[in-house]
Amino acid sequence: MATYKAPVDDVLFLLNDVLGYERYSNLAGFADAPPDMVGAILAEAAKFCEEVVQPLNQQGDRQGCTRHEDGSVTTPDGFIEAYQTFSEAGWVGLACDPEFGGQGLPYTLAARINEFISASNMAWGMYSGLTQGAIAALQVHASDEQKQLYLPKMISGQWSGTMNLTEPHCGTDLGLIKSRAEANEDGSYAITGQKIFISSGEHDLTENIVHLVLARIDDAPEGTRGISLFIVPKFLPDEAGDPGTRNTVTCGSIEEKMGIHGNATCVMNYDGATGWLVGEENRGLSAMFTMMNEARLGVGVQGLAQSDVAYQNAADYARERLQGRALSGAKNPDGDADPIIVHPDVRRTLLHIRAFNEAARALVIWAALKSDEAHRSEDESARSGARAFAGLITPVVKGVLTDIGFENTVRAQQVFGGHGYIAEWGMEQFVRDARITMIYEGANGIQALDLVGRKLPKDGGKAMMAFFAEVNQFVKDNTDDQDLQPYLKPLKDGLDHLEAATMWFMKNAMAEPDNAGAGATDYMHLFGLVALGYMWARMVKAAGDKISNGNGSEEFLQSKKVLGRFWMERVMPDTASRLAHITAGADTVMSLPEEAF
Ligand SMILES: Cc1cc2nc3c(=O)[nH]c(=O)nc-3n(C[C@H](O)[C@H](O)[C@H](O)COP(=O)(O)OP(=O)(O)OC[C@H]3O[C@@H](n4cnc5c(N)ncnc54)[C@H](O)[C@@H]3O)c2cc1C
Repeated sequence: MATYKAPVDDVLFLLNDVLGYERYSNLAGFADAPPDMVGAILAEAAKFCEEVVQPLNQQGDRQGCTRHEDGSVTTPDGFIEAYQTFSEAGWVGLACDPEFGGQGLPYTLAARINEFISASNMAWGMYSGLTQGAIAALQVHASDEQKQLYLPKMISGQWSGTMNLTEPHCGTDLGLIKSRAEANEDGSYAITGQKIFISSGEHDLTENIVHLVLARIDDAPEGTRGISLFIVPKFLPDEAGDPGTRNTVTCGSIEEKMGIHGNATCVMNYDGATGWLVGEENRGLSAMFTMMNEARLGVGVQGLAQSDVAYQNAADYARERLQGRALSGAKNPDGDADPIIVHPDVRRTLLHIRAFNEAARALVIWAALKSDEAHRSEDESARSGARAFAGLITPVVKGVLTDIGFENTVRAQQVFGGHGYIAEWGMEQFVRDARITMIYEGANGIQALDLVGRKLPKDGGKAMMAFFAEVNQFVKDNTDDQDLQPYLKPLKDGLDHLEAATMWFMKNAMAEPDNAGAGATDYMHLFGLVALGYMWARMVKAAGDKISNGNGSEEFLQSKKVLGRFWMERVMPDTASRLAHITAGADTVMSLPEEAF
């Protein structure tokens, strides 16, 4: 049976000592969550996740969701009670607008709590996670009347939200959407079509479900320029705003799938269902992107969360499992064998996972702080700089944290040997659950194309140049710090590789776009390696400062130095091979004719 302990101390170290949480205190909501209160909120969330949500994970996976003949869906035992406790405590709306009943606290904080939830029980966490995304989209794009009607109930957790993009013939290429919206005389629309793979599409956790649906209004232009966004509630709100008439949207079936069995992934049939336009006609995709950007950061966090919970269990197992003797002589001479944690290969595996986890956590907190700044700063230039950085780093967080997060669940499973393959231990569930994070919210290949094709060249590459300048400045500012030297050289080498790859694209990808397509995934990972390396350099510097000041747990701070060193020695060298892949170009990739595959 797997266990989980939320990394509260690590989050506090990152917020307070590494990423300068107090520097953001002028942003709305930050003053209401000073550092001591953040500690208390995180501790409370950690307790709920560890004691209530995590114990439902394995059994929820086994039981799964059930669709009944009338189209209703029941979630696994215990999910309803946990969801009620969660919403009644105000967790769903922690970062939402106080005007509609939210607490207005930093998104950075809500995103951390989402990591704890996801590591405890990813399938359960998706019900509120999608609701938070839907709230974000409505907050920005809905009319005042729509906001008044839907947001308070969604923010309180009484109603949940979904996103409906995918159709049987279209996933990545949303320009192919066929679902239709026909205008009714009263200003509403009749929505008809089929959506597939809809997470949390039908369930018994909330009294109403608010579907955000992409559909094409009659006579709309072809392609992505003809798609509009609609609110389609399961129950139409009555005069008092309570759930009234049942709408003609139903769950046709639940997909049989590899993991996240506790989350109902539904085929949703819209049969002239009543819906209301959100924002402008034919501007639905950009409205949905508000939801998708936040959701992409959230999916990156899911990758990290699965990697972290898998690591914790593998580390516990490695301390207990007795097999073989240490190469340097018995460490447990009175026992039948030594614990496998003595073996360098097992340690290497564990360190690889943990060195990633701690840097990935730093990176998502940094991205979340920038996202808060982009939305909440009063200063337009701060807002636009933060928005550019958040846009640039979002595909990296989504793509890299889920690719490596999944690989790490496999690494952690390997530490268990054959027992990792057996369901009882829970390790194979982490592998199965983590796998979807690489696919949904835009498959990772698409994240890489978004980075290289859109985010990188945007505004003449300004955001990337700002990243280069920041890392170069950090290296320069610390050239005299002897303790940091083992970290700075690999970081600078990695940055040089990233700069060289960027130049190579500028020279070779404009005229030959296949060169960008063939190198995009390597570029995304190269960027990820450098960004995570930069996080390590900053963490080690902060740990060194705290050790010098005699401030904090020596063991915790020393472990940062070791893990950072591991990253620099054993992971950063991969930047060279990523650069080599990129500069190999597209010739070989594109040379075989299609029929030869
Ligand atoms: C469990 C689960 C939950 C989901 N939840 C939701 C949800 O709540 N709402 C929702 O709307 N959807 C949801 N999805 C759908 C998901 O977002 C899509 O599956 C995903 O976007 C990929 O679309 P697709 O499956 O049609 O693959 P395709 O678009 O057919 O892509 C297949 C492969 O081709 C690659 N590819 C496609 N086009 C290109 C290109 N131009 N260049 C390079 N490579 C390309 C992709 O990277 C991918 O690897 C969910 C899916 C699953 C399995």
